[in-house]
Amino acid sequence: MTNHHGRVFLGFLTTSPAIGIPERLWMWICAPKPKVDKEGRPLEAPYGLRKIEAALLDAGFKAAIIDPDYLDKHLKTAKALLIGHHDFFAFCAPSNTWWAVTKKEPVNRKYFIKLMESKPVRQFKKRGGKIVVGGPAVWQWLFVEDLWEKWGVDTIIDGEGEKVVVEIAERILEGKPLPKIIYVSPRDAPSIEEIPTIKGASVNGLVEIMRGCPRGCKFSSVTLRPLRFIPLEKILEEVRTNIRFGVNHIILHSEDVLLYGANGIRPREAPLLKLHEAIISEGVKSMGWAHVSLAAVVYAQRNGRIISKLTELIYSKMDQNDLGVQTGIETGSPRLARLIMPAKAAPYKPEEWPDIVEEAFSILADNNILPAATIILNIPEETPDDVAKTAELIDRLKDYPSLIVPMYFVPLGVLKNKKELLNFRIKAEHIEVMWKCLEHSLRWAPKLIDTYLSRNPLVRIGLKAFLEIVKLKKRSLESKVKQIIKEAAKGQYEHVVSSNTS
Ligand code: SF4
Repeated sequence: MTNHHGRVFLGFLTTSPAIGIPERLWMWICAPKPKVDKEGRPLEAPYGLRKIEAALLDAGFKAAIIDPDYLDKHLKTAKALLIGHHDFFAFCAPSNTWWAVTKKEPVNRKYFIKLMESKPVRQFKKRGGKIVVGGPAVWQWLFVEDLWEKWGVDTIIDGEGEKVVVEIAERILEGKPLPKIIYVSPRDAPSIEEIPTIKGASVNGLVEIMRGCPRGCKFSSVTLRPLRFIPLEKILEEVRTNIRFGVNHIILHSEDVLLYGANGIRPREAPLLKLHEAIISEGVKSMGWAHVSLAAVVYAQRNGRIISKLTELIYSKMDQNDLGVQTGIETGSPRLARLIMPAKAAPYKPEEWPDIVEEAFSILADNNILPAATIILNIPEETPDDVAKTAELIDRLKDYPSLIVPMYFVPLGVLKNKKELLNFRIKAEHIEVMWKCLEHSLRWAPKLIDTYLSRNPLVRIGLKAFLEIVKLKKRSLESKVKQIIKEAAKGQYEHVVSSNTS
Protein backbone atom coordinates (compact mmCIF):
# COMPACT_ATOMS: atom_id res chain seq x y z
CA MET A 1 0.00 0.00 0.00
CA THR A 2 1.94 3.01 -1.26
CA ASN A 3 1.81 5.85 -3.73
CA HIS A 4 5.43 5.37 -4.89
CA HIS A 5 6.19 9.05 -4.13
CA GLY A 6 3.65 9.96 -6.82
CA ARG A 7 5.85 8.34 -9.51
CA VAL A 8 4.17 5.12 -10.54
CA PHE A 9 7.14 3.65 -12.41
CA LEU A 10 9.05 3.34 -9.12
CA GLY A 11 6.59 0.54 -8.46
CA PHE A 12 8.66 -1.63 -10.81
CA LEU A 13 11.31 -1.86 -8.08
CA THR A 14 8.88 -3.73 -5.81
CA THR A 15 9.15 -6.68 -8.19
CA SER A 16 12.77 -7.20 -7.13
CA PRO A 17 14.60 -7.89 -3.87
CA ALA A 18 16.72 -5.04 -2.52
CA ILE A 19 19.91 -4.97 -4.59
CA GLY A 20 23.10 -3.45 -3.23
CA ILE A 21 21.36 -1.23 -0.67
CA PRO A 22 19.59 -2.01 2.64
CA GLU A 23 16.04 -3.27 2.25
CA ARG A 24 14.59 -0.43 4.33
CA LEU A 25 16.08 2.10 1.94
CA TRP A 26 14.90 0.07 -1.06
CA MET A 27 11.37 0.00 0.33
CA TRP A 28 11.46 3.70 1.05
CA ILE A 29 12.49 4.40 -2.55
CA CYS A 30 9.86 2.25 -4.23
CA ALA A 31 7.08 1.83 -1.68
CA PRO A 32 7.05 4.49 1.04
CA LYS A 33 4.32 4.20 3.67
CA PRO A 34 1.16 5.94 2.48
CA LYS A 35 -0.62 8.88 4.06
CA VAL A 36 -3.59 7.52 6.03
CA ASP A 37 -6.41 8.95 8.14
CA LYS A 38 -6.91 7.98 11.79
CA GLU A 39 -8.73 4.80 10.77
CA GLY A 40 -5.82 3.70 8.60
CA ARG A 41 -7.60 4.48 5.33
CA PRO A 42 -5.00 5.50 2.74
CA LEU A 43 -5.51 8.77 0.93
CA GLU A 44 -4.57 7.06 -2.33
CA ALA A 45 -5.42 3.38 -2.81
CA PRO A 46 -4.85 0.91 -5.66
CA TYR A 47 -7.41 1.48 -8.40
CA GLY A 48 -8.64 -2.13 -8.47
CA LEU A 49 -9.36 -2.04 -4.73
CA ARG A 50 -11.16 1.28 -5.19
CA LYS A 51 -13.47 -0.38 -7.74
CA ILE A 52 -14.28 -3.26 -5.38
CA GLU A 53 -14.82 -0.81 -2.51
CA ALA A 54 -17.15 1.27 -4.73
CA ALA A 55 -19.16 -1.82 -5.78
CA LEU A 56 -19.66 -2.79 -2.12
CA LEU A 57 -20.52 0.74 -0.96
CA ASP A 58 -23.00 1.14 -3.83
CA ALA A 59 -24.64 -2.12 -2.74
CA GLY A 60 -24.99 -0.81 0.82
CA PHE A 61 -22.15 -2.66 2.56
CA LYS A 62 -19.85 -1.08 5.09
CA ALA A 63 -16.54 -1.46 3.30
CA ALA A 64 -13.24 0.40 3.40
CA ILE A 65 -9.71 0.06 2.13
CA ILE A 66 -7.31 -0.23 5.06
CA ASP A 67 -3.51 0.03 5.05
CA PRO A 68 -2.21 -3.40 6.23
CA ASP A 69 -0.40 -1.66 9.13
CA TYR A 70 -3.82 -0.66 10.57
CA LEU A 71 -5.71 -3.91 10.03
CA ASP A 72 -5.55 -4.86 13.70
CA LYS A 73 -7.94 -2.09 14.58
CA HIS A 74 -10.64 -3.34 12.21
CA LEU A 75 -10.25 -7.10 12.01
CA LYS A 76 -11.67 -7.59 15.52
CA THR A 77 -15.13 -6.71 14.22
CA ALA A 78 -14.88 -7.24 10.47
CA LYS A 79 -16.68 -10.16 8.82
CA ALA A 80 -14.48 -10.36 5.77
CA LEU A 81 -11.00 -9.43 4.63
CA LEU A 82 -10.66 -8.93 0.88
CA ILE A 83 -7.15 -8.80 -0.52
CA GLY A 84 -5.91 -7.72 -3.92
CA HIS A 85 -2.32 -7.84 -5.19
CA HIS A 86 -0.51 -7.45 -8.50
CA ASP A 87 1.83 -10.34 -7.91
CA PHE A 88 1.09 -12.21 -4.64
CA PHE A 89 3.90 -14.76 -4.91
CA ALA A 90 6.23 -13.07 -7.43
CA PHE A 91 5.45 -15.64 -10.12
CA CYS A 92 4.77 -12.95 -12.76
CA ALA A 93 7.45 -11.34 -14.88
CA PRO A 94 9.56 -9.39 -14.12
CA SER A 95 9.48 -10.54 -10.44
CA ASN A 96 10.33 -14.13 -11.43
CA THR A 97 13.27 -12.88 -13.51
CA TRP A 98 14.82 -10.83 -10.70
CA TRP A 99 14.14 -13.64 -8.23
CA ALA A 100 15.92 -16.22 -10.39
CA VAL A 101 18.84 -13.94 -11.21
CA THR A 102 19.44 -12.65 -7.67
CA LYS A 103 18.29 -15.78 -5.80
CA LYS A 104 16.51 -13.53 -3.32
CA GLU A 105 12.80 -13.23 -2.69
CA PRO A 106 11.32 -10.09 -4.30
CA VAL A 107 9.90 -7.66 -1.78
CA ASN A 108 6.36 -7.83 -3.19
CA ARG A 109 6.21 -11.54 -2.26
CA LYS A 110 8.06 -11.15 1.03
CA TYR A 111 5.74 -8.46 2.40
CA PHE A 112 2.61 -10.24 1.25
CA ILE A 113 3.63 -13.42 3.08
CA LYS A 114 4.44 -11.29 6.14
CA LEU A 115 0.92 -9.86 6.02
CA MET A 116 -0.71 -13.29 5.80
CA GLU A 117 1.42 -14.59 8.68
CA SER A 118 0.75 -11.51 10.83
CA LYS A 119 -1.00 -11.82 14.20
CA PRO A 120 -4.10 -9.76 13.31
CA VAL A 121 -4.78 -11.86 10.19
CA ARG A 122 -4.16 -15.16 12.01
CA GLN A 123 -6.46 -14.15 14.87
CA PHE A 124 -9.12 -12.91 12.45
CA LYS A 125 -9.11 -16.31 10.80
CA LYS A 126 -9.32 -18.11 14.16
CA ARG A 127 -12.42 -16.06 14.99
CA GLY A 128 -14.07 -17.36 11.82
CA GLY A 129 -13.51 -14.35 9.54
CA LYS A 130 -13.64 -14.95 5.80
CA ILE A 131 -10.75 -14.21 3.46
CA VAL A 132 -11.38 -13.49 -0.23
CA VAL A 133 -8.57 -12.81 -2.70
CA GLY A 134 -8.68 -11.32 -6.18
CA GLY A 135 -6.85 -9.14 -8.67
CA PRO A 136 -4.78 -9.76 -11.78
CA ALA A 137 -2.39 -12.27 -10.16
CA VAL A 138 -5.05 -14.40 -8.48
CA TRP A 139 -4.28 -17.42 -10.70
CA GLN A 140 -1.10 -17.87 -8.64
CA TRP A 141 -3.11 -19.36 -5.76
CA LEU A 142 -3.72 -22.45 -7.88
CA PHE A 143 0.00 -23.20 -7.54
CA VAL A 144 0.25 -22.75 -3.76
CA GLU A 145 -2.51 -24.98 -2.47
CA ASP A 146 -0.57 -25.54 0.78
CA LEU A 147 -0.62 -21.80 1.56
CA TRP A 148 -4.23 -21.49 0.43
CA GLU A 149 -5.06 -24.17 3.00
CA LYS A 150 -2.69 -22.92 5.71
CA TRP A 151 -3.93 -19.33 5.66
CA GLY A 152 -7.57 -20.32 5.32
CA VAL A 153 -8.37 -18.39 2.18
CA ASP A 154 -12.06 -19.04 1.57
CA THR A 155 -12.64 -17.79 -1.97
CA ILE A 156 -10.58 -16.67 -4.91
CA ILE A 157 -12.22 -14.48 -7.54
CA ASP A 158 -10.57 -14.73 -10.95
CA GLY A 159 -11.67 -12.04 -13.39
CA GLU A 160 -13.42 -8.69 -13.19
CA GLY A 161 -14.85 -8.74 -9.68
CA GLU A 162 -17.20 -5.76 -9.39
CA LYS A 163 -20.42 -7.75 -9.84
CA VAL A 164 -19.59 -11.01 -8.18
CA VAL A 165 -18.03 -9.47 -5.06
CA VAL A 166 -21.46 -8.19 -4.04
CA GLU A 167 -22.92 -11.72 -4.17
CA ILE A 168 -19.98 -13.04 -2.13
CA ALA A 169 -20.41 -10.30 0.48
CA GLU A 170 -24.12 -11.19 0.80
CA ARG A 171 -23.28 -14.86 1.28
CA ILE A 172 -20.73 -14.03 3.97
CA LEU A 173 -23.19 -11.90 5.94
CA GLU A 174 -25.90 -14.54 5.60
CA GLY A 175 -23.48 -17.25 6.76
CA LYS A 176 -23.93 -19.25 3.55
CA PRO A 177 -21.18 -21.56 2.21
CA LEU A 178 -18.70 -19.92 -0.14
CA PRO A 179 -17.35 -21.29 -3.42
CA LYS A 180 -13.60 -21.93 -3.39
CA ILE A 181 -13.05 -20.40 -6.83
CA ILE A 182 -15.17 -18.09 -8.94
CA TYR A 183 -14.10 -17.59 -12.50
CA VAL A 184 -15.72 -14.52 -14.05
CA SER A 185 -15.91 -15.29 -17.77
CA PRO A 186 -15.82 -12.46 -20.34
CA ARG A 187 -19.58 -13.04 -20.78
CA ASP A 188 -20.16 -12.27 -17.10
CA ALA A 189 -17.86 -9.24 -17.03
CA PRO A 190 -19.60 -6.05 -15.92
CA SER A 191 -21.06 -3.83 -18.61
CA ILE A 192 -20.15 -0.12 -18.74
CA GLU A 193 -23.21 0.70 -16.60
CA GLU A 194 -22.24 -1.95 -14.05
CA ILE A 195 -18.69 -0.65 -13.56
CA PRO A 196 -18.91 1.59 -10.45
CA THR A 197 -17.06 4.88 -10.13
CA ILE A 198 -14.43 5.11 -7.42
CA LYS A 199 -15.26 6.91 -4.16
CA GLY A 200 -11.76 7.93 -3.09
CA ALA A 201 -8.45 8.86 -4.72
CA SER A 202 -6.51 6.21 -6.60
CA VAL A 203 -2.74 5.66 -6.50
CA ASN A 204 -1.13 8.39 -8.60
CA GLY A 205 -4.58 9.45 -9.81
CA LEU A 206 -5.02 6.40 -12.03
CA VAL A 207 -8.30 6.59 -13.93
CA GLU A 208 -9.48 3.89 -16.30
CA ILE A 209 -10.56 5.08 -19.75
CA MET A 210 -11.01 1.73 -21.42
CA ARG A 211 -11.05 -1.98 -20.54
CA GLY A 212 -9.79 -4.83 -22.73
CA CYS A 213 -7.52 -4.89 -25.79
CA PRO A 214 -8.36 -6.02 -29.32
CA ARG A 215 -4.85 -7.15 -30.33
CA GLY A 216 -5.14 -10.71 -29.02
CA CYS A 217 -1.51 -11.48 -28.13
CA LYS A 218 -1.17 -15.13 -27.14
CA PHE A 219 0.59 -14.47 -23.81
CA SER A 220 -1.82 -11.76 -22.61
CA SER A 221 -4.81 -12.35 -20.34
CA VAL A 222 -6.17 -8.88 -21.18
CA THR A 223 -7.15 -10.27 -24.55
CA LEU A 224 -9.90 -12.30 -22.91
CA ARG A 225 -11.70 -9.17 -21.73
CA PRO A 226 -14.40 -7.59 -23.86
CA LEU A 227 -13.44 -4.15 -25.17
CA ARG A 228 -15.30 -1.30 -23.43
CA PHE A 229 -14.73 2.46 -23.67
CA ILE A 230 -15.58 4.25 -20.43
CA PRO A 231 -17.86 7.23 -21.23
CA LEU A 232 -16.23 10.64 -20.84
CA GLU A 233 -18.59 11.75 -18.05
CA LYS A 234 -17.69 8.70 -15.96
CA ILE A 235 -13.97 9.34 -16.50
CA LEU A 236 -14.38 12.98 -15.45
CA GLU A 237 -16.27 11.94 -12.33
CA GLU A 238 -13.26 9.88 -11.24
CA VAL A 239 -10.88 12.73 -12.14
CA ARG A 240 -12.97 15.05 -9.93
CA THR A 241 -12.90 12.51 -7.09
CA ASN A 242 -9.12 12.46 -7.24
CA ILE A 243 -8.90 16.24 -7.30
CA ARG A 244 -11.31 16.43 -4.34
CA PHE A 245 -8.86 14.32 -2.32
CA GLY A 246 -5.92 16.47 -3.39
CA VAL A 247 -4.55 14.25 -6.17
CA ASN A 248 -3.99 16.57 -9.12
CA HIS A 249 -1.87 14.31 -11.26
CA ILE A 250 -3.92 11.93 -13.39
CA ILE A 251 -2.72 8.79 -15.17
CA LEU A 252 -4.98 7.62 -17.96
CA HIS A 253 -5.20 3.88 -17.68
CA SER A 254 -5.85 1.60 -20.61
CA GLU A 255 -4.00 -1.26 -22.27
CA ASP A 256 -3.58 1.26 -25.07
CA VAL A 257 -4.47 4.89 -24.33
CA LEU A 258 -4.33 5.77 -28.04
CA LEU A 259 -7.18 3.37 -28.82
CA TYR A 260 -9.69 5.38 -26.78
CA GLY A 261 -12.61 5.95 -29.18
CA ALA A 262 -10.59 4.32 -31.99
CA ASN A 263 -11.85 2.81 -35.16
CA GLY A 264 -10.76 -0.77 -34.39
CA ILE A 265 -6.99 -0.50 -33.96
CA ARG A 266 -6.78 2.84 -35.80
CA PRO A 267 -6.53 5.79 -33.37
CA ARG A 268 -8.82 8.75 -34.07
CA GLU A 269 -7.89 12.34 -33.34
CA ALA A 270 -11.31 13.67 -32.27
CA PRO A 271 -12.04 11.41 -29.25
CA LEU A 272 -8.44 11.61 -28.04
CA LEU A 273 -8.31 15.41 -28.17
CA LYS A 274 -11.75 15.67 -26.59
CA LEU A 275 -10.70 13.36 -23.74
CA HIS A 276 -7.50 15.28 -23.03
CA GLU A 277 -9.14 18.72 -23.30
CA ALA A 278 -11.94 17.68 -20.95
CA ILE A 279 -9.50 16.37 -18.34
CA ILE A 280 -7.31 19.48 -18.59
CA SER A 281 -10.37 21.69 -18.10
CA GLU A 282 -11.02 19.98 -14.75
CA GLY A 283 -7.90 21.71 -13.38
CA VAL A 284 -5.52 18.74 -13.44
CA LYS A 285 -1.89 19.81 -12.97
CA SER A 286 -0.18 17.03 -14.91
CA MET A 287 -1.02 13.87 -16.74
CA GLY A 288 0.51 10.51 -17.68
CA TRP A 289 -0.40 7.60 -19.92
CA ALA A 290 -0.23 4.07 -18.51
CA HIS A 291 0.34 2.15 -21.73
CA VAL A 292 0.44 2.67 -25.48
CA SER A 293 1.07 0.15 -28.23
CA LEU A 294 3.88 1.02 -30.61
CA ALA A 295 1.80 0.36 -33.74
CA ALA A 296 -0.82 2.84 -32.50
CA VAL A 297 1.93 5.45 -31.97
CA VAL A 298 3.06 5.06 -35.58
CA TYR A 299 -0.46 5.06 -37.02
CA ALA A 300 -1.51 8.08 -34.96
CA GLN A 301 1.52 10.12 -36.01
CA ARG A 302 1.43 9.12 -39.69
CA ASN A 303 -2.26 10.01 -39.85
CA GLY A 304 -2.57 13.60 -38.72
CA ARG A 305 0.37 14.00 -36.28
CA ILE A 306 -1.92 12.97 -33.42
CA ILE A 307 0.97 12.28 -31.02
CA SER A 308 2.41 15.75 -31.59
CA LYS A 309 -1.00 17.38 -31.23
CA LEU A 310 -1.68 15.57 -27.94
CA THR A 311 1.72 16.34 -26.44
CA GLU A 312 1.61 19.99 -27.60
CA LEU A 313 -1.74 20.27 -25.81
CA ILE A 314 -0.49 18.56 -22.64
CA TYR A 315 2.81 20.47 -22.42
CA SER A 316 1.23 23.84 -23.16
CA LYS A 317 -1.65 23.53 -20.69
CA MET A 318 -0.09 21.60 -17.85
CA ASP A 319 2.89 21.75 -15.59
CA GLN A 320 5.04 19.24 -17.49
CA ASN A 321 7.40 18.88 -20.45
CA ASP A 322 7.46 15.13 -20.77
CA LEU A 323 5.33 12.04 -20.46
CA GLY A 324 6.25 8.57 -19.19
CA VAL A 325 4.61 5.49 -20.67
CA GLN A 326 4.89 1.73 -20.60
CA THR A 327 4.92 -0.27 -23.81
CA GLY A 328 5.72 -3.73 -25.15
CA ILE A 329 8.35 -4.62 -27.75
CA GLU A 330 8.39 -8.31 -26.72
CA THR A 331 10.46 -9.52 -29.70
CA GLY A 332 12.53 -8.27 -32.61
CA SER A 333 11.68 -11.29 -34.73
CA PRO A 334 8.92 -10.88 -37.33
CA ARG A 335 8.55 -14.68 -37.43
CA LEU A 336 7.91 -14.90 -33.71
CA ALA A 337 5.72 -11.79 -33.80
CA ARG A 338 3.50 -13.48 -36.38
CA LEU A 339 3.22 -16.57 -34.18
CA ILE A 340 2.58 -15.05 -30.76
CA MET A 341 1.22 -11.56 -31.41
CA PRO A 342 -0.04 -11.40 -34.99
CA ALA A 343 -2.05 -8.20 -34.42
CA LYS A 344 0.51 -6.30 -32.32
CA ALA A 345 1.81 -4.48 -35.42
CA ALA A 346 -1.67 -3.96 -36.92
CA PRO A 347 -2.72 -2.18 -39.10
CA TYR A 348 0.79 -2.96 -40.34
CA LYS A 349 2.14 -6.44 -41.07
CA PRO A 350 4.03 -8.53 -38.47
CA GLU A 351 6.94 -8.57 -40.97
CA GLU A 352 7.27 -4.81 -40.44
CA TRP A 353 7.41 -5.13 -36.62
CA PRO A 354 11.08 -4.16 -36.04
CA ASP A 355 10.66 -1.08 -38.30
CA ILE A 356 7.42 -0.13 -36.52
CA VAL A 357 9.17 -0.39 -33.16
CA GLU A 358 12.04 1.84 -34.28
CA GLU A 359 9.74 4.40 -35.91
CA ALA A 360 7.57 4.50 -32.77
CA PHE A 361 10.64 5.03 -30.55
CA SER A 362 11.73 7.88 -32.78
CA ILE A 363 8.26 9.49 -32.61
CA LEU A 364 8.18 9.09 -28.83
CA ALA A 365 11.66 10.68 -28.52
CA ASP A 366 10.69 13.60 -30.80
CA ASN A 367 7.71 14.29 -28.57
CA ASN A 368 9.49 13.93 -25.23
CA ILE A 369 7.69 10.72 -24.30
CA LEU A 370 9.88 8.36 -22.28
CA PRO A 371 8.99 4.69 -22.69
CA ALA A 372 9.70 1.80 -20.35
CA ALA A 373 9.53 -1.15 -22.73
CA THR A 374 9.44 -4.89 -22.15
CA ILE A 375 11.09 -7.76 -24.03
CA ILE A 376 9.88 -11.33 -23.49
CA LEU A 377 12.45 -14.12 -23.58
CA ASN A 378 11.92 -17.88 -23.58
CA ILE A 379 8.51 -17.95 -25.29
CA PRO A 380 7.97 -21.66 -26.18
CA GLU A 381 8.05 -21.09 -29.97
CA GLU A 382 11.28 -19.06 -29.80
CA THR A 383 14.46 -20.10 -31.71
CA PRO A 384 18.05 -18.79 -31.32
CA ASP A 385 17.54 -16.83 -34.55
CA ASP A 386 14.51 -15.03 -33.04
CA VAL A 387 16.61 -14.06 -30.04
CA ALA A 388 19.39 -12.78 -32.33
CA LYS A 389 16.81 -10.57 -34.09
CA THR A 390 15.72 -9.15 -30.72
CA ALA A 391 19.38 -8.35 -29.95
CA GLU A 392 19.65 -6.54 -33.33
CA LEU A 393 16.53 -4.51 -32.59
CA ILE A 394 17.87 -3.40 -29.21
CA ASP A 395 20.97 -2.14 -31.06
CA ARG A 396 18.75 -0.12 -33.39
CA LEU A 397 17.04 1.50 -30.38
CA LYS A 398 20.23 2.53 -28.64
CA ASP A 399 19.91 6.25 -29.35
CA TYR A 400 16.35 6.65 -28.10
CA PRO A 401 15.91 7.57 -24.42
CA SER A 402 14.10 4.63 -22.84
CA LEU A 403 14.35 1.71 -20.47
CA ILE A 404 14.20 -1.81 -21.88
CA VAL A 405 13.37 -4.53 -19.38
CA PRO A 406 13.78 -8.24 -20.21
CA MET A 407 11.10 -10.53 -18.83
CA TYR A 408 11.58 -14.27 -18.68
CA PHE A 409 8.62 -16.36 -19.74
CA VAL A 410 8.17 -19.19 -17.26
CA PRO A 411 5.80 -22.01 -18.24
CA LEU A 412 3.12 -22.39 -15.57
CA GLY A 413 4.06 -26.03 -14.94
CA VAL A 414 7.36 -24.86 -13.44
CA LEU A 415 5.51 -22.97 -10.73
CA LYS A 416 4.49 -26.26 -9.12
CA ASN A 417 8.04 -26.62 -7.88
CA LYS A 418 9.60 -23.63 -6.15
CA LYS A 419 13.10 -25.06 -6.56
CA GLU A 420 12.66 -25.29 -10.31
CA LEU A 421 11.30 -21.78 -10.45
CA LEU A 422 14.52 -20.52 -8.94
CA ASN A 423 16.73 -22.68 -11.09
CA PHE A 424 15.01 -22.25 -14.42
CA ARG A 425 17.54 -22.35 -17.17
CA ILE A 426 18.58 -19.24 -18.99
CA LYS A 427 19.74 -20.13 -22.51
CA ALA A 428 23.10 -18.82 -23.65
CA GLU A 429 21.56 -16.66 -26.39
CA HIS A 430 19.32 -14.95 -23.83
CA ILE A 431 22.34 -13.64 -21.98
CA GLU A 432 23.27 -11.40 -24.89
CA VAL A 433 19.79 -9.83 -24.94
CA MET A 434 19.73 -9.38 -21.18
CA TRP A 435 23.17 -7.80 -21.31
CA LYS A 436 22.11 -5.43 -24.09
CA CYS A 437 19.01 -4.44 -22.10
CA LEU A 438 21.26 -3.72 -19.11
CA GLU A 439 23.65 -1.60 -21.21
CA HIS A 440 20.78 0.27 -22.86
CA SER A 441 18.99 0.99 -19.59
CA LEU A 442 22.18 1.99 -17.79
CA ARG A 443 22.93 4.42 -20.61
CA TRP A 444 19.57 6.17 -20.35
CA ALA A 445 18.65 5.69 -16.68
CA PRO A 446 20.50 8.81 -15.40
CA LYS A 447 18.63 11.07 -17.86
CA LEU A 448 15.33 9.37 -17.12
CA ILE A 449 15.88 9.59 -13.38
CA ASP A 450 16.72 13.31 -13.64
CA THR A 451 13.63 14.02 -15.76
CA TYR A 452 11.14 11.71 -14.10
CA LEU A 453 12.21 12.47 -10.55
CA SER A 454 12.98 16.16 -10.94
CA ARG A 455 10.69 16.90 -7.98
CA ASN A 456 11.86 14.03 -5.77
CA PRO A 457 15.50 14.92 -4.96
CA LEU A 458 16.03 12.32 -2.21
CA VAL A 459 14.62 9.45 -4.24
CA ARG A 460 16.75 10.65 -7.15
CA ILE A 461 19.90 10.45 -5.04
CA GLY A 462 18.92 6.99 -3.75
CA LEU A 463 18.34 5.65 -7.26
CA LYS A 464 21.55 7.16 -8.61
CA ALA A 465 23.48 5.43 -5.80
CA PHE A 466 21.80 2.17 -6.77
CA LEU A 467 22.82 2.73 -10.42
CA GLU A 468 26.46 3.11 -9.38
CA ILE A 469 26.26 -0.25 -7.58
CA VAL A 470 24.77 -1.89 -10.67
CA LYS A 471 27.53 -0.38 -12.83
CA LEU A 472 30.21 -1.78 -10.50
CA LYS A 473 28.61 -5.22 -10.59
CA LYS A 474 28.34 -5.03 -14.37
CA ARG A 475 32.04 -4.21 -14.68
CA SER A 476 32.97 -7.22 -12.54
CA LEU A 477 30.95 -9.57 -14.77
CA GLU A 478 31.80 -8.02 -18.13
CA SER A 479 34.62 -10.27 -19.35
CA LYS A 480 32.88 -13.48 -18.25
CA VAL A 481 29.60 -12.53 -19.93
CA LYS A 482 31.31 -11.39 -23.15
CA GLN A 483 33.11 -14.74 -23.33
CA ILE A 484 29.81 -16.63 -23.00
CA ILE A 485 28.22 -14.45 -25.69
CA LYS A 486 31.19 -15.08 -28.01
CA GLU A 487 31.05 -18.84 -27.51
CA ALA A 488 27.29 -18.88 -27.93
CA ALA A 489 27.62 -17.02 -31.27
CA LYS A 490 30.06 -19.69 -32.53
CA GLY A 491 27.74 -22.43 -31.37
CA GLN A 492 30.41 -23.59 -28.91
CA TYR A 493 28.43 -22.83 -25.84
CA GLU A 494 26.03 -25.65 -26.12
CA HIS A 495 24.69 -26.05 -22.67
CA VAL A 496 22.26 -23.74 -21.07
CA VAL A 497 23.28 -21.61 -18.15
CA SER A 498 21.49 -22.17 -14.91
CA SER A 499 20.54 -19.07 -13.03
CA ASN A 500 22.57 -20.60 -10.18
CA THR A 501 25.61 -19.24 -11.98
CA SER A 502 26.33 -15.61 -11.13
S1 SF4 B 1 -1.19 -5.38 -27.13
FE1 SF4 B 1 -0.64 -5.54 -24.94
S2 SF4 B 1 -2.58 -5.51 -23.82
FE2 SF4 B 1 -3.08 -5.91 -25.97
S3 SF4 B 1 -3.22 -8.15 -26.08
FE3 SF4 B 1 -1.10 -7.57 -26.65
S4 SF4 B 1 0.08 -7.66 -24.71
FE4 SF4 B 1 -2.13 -7.66 -24.17
